[in-house]
Amino acid sequence: MCGIIGYVGKNKNALHVLIAGLKALEYRGYDSAGIAFVNDNNIEIIKSEGKIKNLESKIDKNYNSNIGIGHTRWATHGCPETINSHPHRVGNVTIVHNGIIENYEQLKNELEKEGYKFISETDTEVACALIDFFYKETKNKLSALKKASSKMKGSFAFGIIFDDDLDNIYAMRKDSPLIIAVGDKENFIASDVPAILEYTNKYILLDKNEYAVINDNEIKIYDDNFNILNKEILTYGGTKEVAMKNGYEHFMLKEINDEPKVILDTYMQFVQSNLKDILSNMPDLSKYDKFDIVACGSAYHAGLVGKNLIEEYANVPVNVELASEYRYKKNFNNNKTLTILISQSGETADTLAALRKAKEKNIDTLGIINVVGSSIAREADKVIYIKAGAEISVATTKAYQAQVLILALIAINKGVVDCSISLEDAINYLNELEEIPKKIENLISNIEEYKMVAQTIYKKEHLFFLGRGIDYALSMEGSLKLKEISYIHSEAYAAGELKHGTISLIEEGTSVIAIVTDEKIDEKTVSNIKEVKARGADVTLITTEKLYKKYENSNFYDRKIIIPMSNVLFQELLTIVPLQLIAYETAKLRGESIDQPRNLAKSVTVE
Ligand code: GLU
Repeated sequence: MCGIIGYVGKNKNALHVLIAGLKALEYRGYDSAGIAFVNDNNIEIIKSEGKIKNLESKIDKNYNSNIGIGHTRWATHGCPETINSHPHRVGNVTIVHNGIIENYEQLKNELEKEGYKFISETDTEVACALIDFFYKETKNKLSALKKASSKMKGSFAFGIIFDDDLDNIYAMRKDSPLIIAVGDKENFIASDVPAILEYTNKYILLDKNEYAVINDNEIKIYDDNFNILNKEILTYGGTKEVAMKNGYEHFMLKEINDEPKVILDTYMQFVQSNLKDILSNMPDLSKYDKFDIVACGSAYHAGLVGKNLIEEYANVPVNVELASEYRYKKNFNNNKTLTILISQSGETADTLAALRKAKEKNIDTLGIINVVGSSIAREADKVIYIKAGAEISVATTKAYQAQVLILALIAINKGVVDCSISLEDAINYLNELEEIPKKIENLISNIEEYKMVAQTIYKKEHLFFLGRGIDYALSMEGSLKLKEISYIHSEAYAAGELKHGTISLIEEGTSVIAIVTDEKIDEKTVSNIKEVKARGADVTLITTEKLYKKYENSNFYDRKIIIPMSNVLFQELLTIVPLQLIAYETAKLRGESIDQPRNLAKSVTVE
């Protein structure tokens, strides 16, 4: 999710364009930034950990350059430190890179045998050395790029400057996006349109296995056989904000559509060569015999899902607490308790206070955080990043998903170290992860079904979500999503608890969304659904393919949404998708301000 920008032209100071471009790409998420530019016929590289303003503060205001490349990094290989930031430079080649080189270890070994030395932990530095190696061998830049590209497995887009050609920027891509923007006596490369909109709205989409060479008055695009291509110049008609939404009407919808990639990026951070690496590369949790999960809002609901999974698979008790409660009450913990703090922003005031309280008592802490370098990430003993990228919609969707995934991975890891699940079972569970992104994509594509459910509820004043066990935890998140953005009051109820009072609120036409995915308890939940149906409720059933077969011919529901099968550890990553989209479609029908709901802030930094 990083950002690439490159500028070559006579009209402007490249440094200004690079910094402005990186700022325009900030919404994609990043943890460090850097630029390379030509100064007195030499390449200067300036980079910095953290925000772009840290980078800016390192740049001498007197620099003036006609050509440069810039990058916001979203670390996949190596911590977010200055040394790992881009641009990287090896031999005669300087590059910025978006993506992952999966076989970088093997390539690194081969290049080390050729005498290359590496100073960073990144896959990118290896790619840079590979290009340099082939350039030395072929003495031809495009051939070097092609040879390097054919050796690298994974996804990439590169911006490149060669020392002996300081007037041109080279670019190539496979799988990661890159555009070439067309200006007047100036041209650009960028990962996305917002980076260049201030200067031009004309651009060319670079396709897979194409190469570009740009200077101040010429753009040349080549195919894989080095034929020059005559590519269409597109005109972008929208605003910067529209461009950031990537064509979606709202950030929330864009971010739900980001979920498949977020799931992939979140687990791939632990993988070097295969999924089994997830077992060895996550923090060591062997010492703990109890977890306290402390969080607010959706992160608290993720914690409740995590509790179900960790207790079931790792056989360890989990106490989930709202941070605003935890910080003022008596806590029962000792040196075998791990306090897990979950916060998208890493700045949530109550969660931060809970972290500090646990630390004061010398209780070990682990943050599950999205924003790199945030307060909780810095202060917790250990941190796992969720790799969701910037989340702009106030109502969280993709960050919640990644939090749940990390908790499921903790359940598997802890289960293996405590021998409550066998290694073989763990590997089978992990193998299923590969199917999850595609299944989420398929679920998102069933949008018409969610629109139909939204039609049945958008005029209601209140409704209920029902479920048991993990389905109850999902009900709570589904209900919160609906309340946050549609302003319809809803309540999530443990299905078995309804008849202890709340069933008195069910009358003819009351909307109920019932979630039944847990095969241990489906019949009990179905009995509760029948009770509300008998009192006139209008029931939307959300269930799995397998359970639907069991209840296909029953009449306790008015419509159904069917979730593809997964193992229980990852099933909830699928079940939540329709709930998020029902909330979205309902808020849309009501004409509400979906990305910025009233009274709410994205990062709650007050108590
Ligand atoms: N894999 C590269 C790194 O970790 C690039 C990451 C990115 O796309 O920002 O440095």
